[in-house]
Amino acid sequence: MPMLNYKTKSIAPGTWAIEEKSPVSQGLCYLLCGTAQALLIDTGFGFPGLKSAVESLTDLPVTVVNTHGHVDHIGGNHFFSNIWLHADDRETFAMHSNMAYTSSLMPGLAFVLKTPLRRFLTQVLTVPPGGEYHYFTDGQTFDLGGRTVVCIHTPGHTPGSCVFLDKKQRLLFSGDTVCAWGVLLEFRECCPPEVFLESMERLLAIQESFGTIWPGHHAFPIDKGYLAEYREGAQEIVNGTAQFIRKGKRIFAKHGRILIALPPDYPKGA
Ligand SMILES: [Zn+2]
Repeated sequence: MPMLNYKTKSIAPGTWAIEEKSPVSQGLCYLLCGTAQALLIDTGFGFPGLKSAVESLTDLPVTVVNTHGHVDHIGGNHFFSNIWLHADDRETFAMHSNMAYTSSLMPGLAFVLKTPLRRFLTQVLTVPPGGEYHYFTDGQTFDLGGRTVVCIHTPGHTPGSCVFLDKKQRLLFSGDTVCAWGVLLEFRECCPPEVFLESMERLLAIQESFGTIWPGHHAFPIDKGYLAEYREGAQEIVNGTAQFIRKGKRIFAKHGRILIALPPDYPKGA
């Protein structure tokens, strides 16, 4: 078995971060427990051990919600029976259940696929069928018993990207829409920067309702100051005043602490 690790960390009453690590990836799932049920936000690549990590924290029935349909957020859905995704990410979900597409997105993987890990990774990078799927739109609420979580549609990284707000505990779970390192708007399923900009305006308008942001990757939690930086960075792209940097074939707009990755032929392909 390759080196894999699920590390759980209590972040608020009845709330845990579950960090998934492999030699080529790092991601975060979150488990929120009410009195009647538990909500699991994202399922990572879904390596063996995810389900037992969740079961070590709660006996409640688990509902899965995906922040978006990317392979590193949906891979463990099949361990659970009740799964929810934004309706606008059905196509992205289908693309990301296909290994030919997903392996082309991860340059680090090309090397690993030539090693004995190939068989294992093939299992992980295809999303096995299983579970019952439900599709929501903006404003969907999940009542966990004494605790309600609301979905806010924030398209950009994908058409159906969402964040989840727990108003009572003032936590915002942001998936890949807001991370410390940057946001990727470079894939064919991504929305134009104008759409991402509107999503940042939307989150800034409700920023009094949460204290911290819990992203899908990298450092956690992150401060709310990131929202204004993403808004300004996206505004500069839209205005044509962004400062661009190139890393190999990739192009990024840089603003303050954050990067916004754009399609390689930007602005032609945008
Ligand atoms: Zn993603």
